[in-house]
Amino acid sequence: MDNINILKQDPILANIIKLEEKRQKEGLELIASENYVSSAVLEAMGSVLANKYSEGYSGKRYYGGNEIIDQAENLAIERAKKLFDAEHVNVQPLSGSPANLAVYMALIKPGDKVLGLSLDQGGHLSHGHPLNFSGLLYSIIPYVLDRETELIDMDELEKIAIIEKPKMIIAGFSAYSRNLDWKRFKKIADRVGAITFADIAHIAGLIAGKQIDNPVPIFDVVSTTTHKTLRGPRGAIIMCKEQFAKAIDRAVFPGVQGGPHDHITAAKAVAFGEALMPSFAEYSSQVIKNSQELAKQMQSLEYRIVSGGTDNHLFMVDLFGSKKITGKEAEHALDFVGISINKNMIPFDLRRPMDPSGIRLGTPAITTRGMKEKHMKIVAELIHKTLMSRDNDFILKNIKKEVIEFSLNFPVPGII
Ligand SMILES: *Cc1c(COP(=O)(O)O)cnc(C)c1O
Repeated sequence: MDNINILKQDPILANIIKLEEKRQKEGLELIASENYVSSAVLEAMGSVLANKYSEGYSGKRYYGGNEIIDQAENLAIERAKKLFDAEHVNVQPLSGSPANLAVYMALIKPGDKVLGLSLDQGGHLSHGHPLNFSGLLYSIIPYVLDRETELIDMDELEKIAIIEKPKMIIAGFSAYSRNLDWKRFKKIADRVGAITFADIAHIAGLIAGKQIDNPVPIFDVVSTTTHKTLRGPRGAIIMCKEQFAKAIDRAVFPGVQGGPHDHITAAKAVAFGEALMPSFAEYSSQVIKNSQELAKQMQSLEYRIVSGGTDNHLFMVDLFGSKKITGKEAEHALDFVGISINKNMIPFDLRRPMDPSGIRLGTPAITTRGMKEKHMKIVAELIHKTLMSRDNDFILKNIKKEVIEFSLNFPVPGII
């Protein structure tokens, strides 16, 4: 087995990887939560650090032989602290949802009241879906958007907070294109004695790149995935004020998890190192410019953009309201030509989650490939043509060729 590469040892699986490389190179990735990691991040993930068991924390492990692993974990922590101006960081969470489970476990009790953005208006599963641990174990009270502006209704949030007196208020989203007023969240929470929890899974890279205000100095606790705009390995971190450090660490291990994934921790350190470089600020600025330009191009093709535009890397298109096309139909046709997007509920959607009125578009991945504003017109036109020809396989096949030809101009990191 030794020193035999995957192609020789397991050609079946090796071929599956090749196929996925081809799909990633030839397609346009507009799923807002996806990105391409660098070769250095890939290399760390594929390293022998995968072999180690390290339950516990640096200097206090339940297994021997962790003196090198400690260095990797400490490096990830130091870099994350610097990147987000954090007092304490736990870099072990396996992904965003388990990180959030640890936050709930650390700070509140089952049955406690929590305020979170309504899921059908942009919130995340772990902010109160009835089948998720959050909805099952805690009493989640949703807050909503203003019908007219499609922005979070902060006055309404304040009213709900005063009436309900929640133990914790969550600020964060998976599908919302506007900036959050961190200070106002904190002010409302302080008024009712609630803990402030920001889930910046989607926008962490834009915060690290100094394009969006950082909640870490303001909020009690902040969680984020590391694989979305932050462009690291699949995983998460939790940042908090020193007073919550012990409770957070205990909730991650032994509360939620066993051994950390040390190869992923190492890859997090590499990604944080990349995010500390000036080129990452440029990247995140370009992500937002591209997102705003793509939204503008869609508007010029007479698609309605939820809330009228975007401050971040994503936006929702009201397809049914604009063209009587459903999210499911659009996802299907766009998939056929190699454009990856996801169907999405729009605020106050009258359609079902499995076939909603909208789609969500995001620019982190295409920006990593080097696309700039001028390319967004082409992307918008490819989307529009596909939607207009969604019932014509012949035209769709030709569009697919165009998508491949266009995409191949932009290299994917880590793929030759
Ligand atoms: C993506 C996301 C998560 C969860 O991340 P997973 O790694 O998929 O578990 C949590 N919160 C928000 C707001 C997200 O967008």
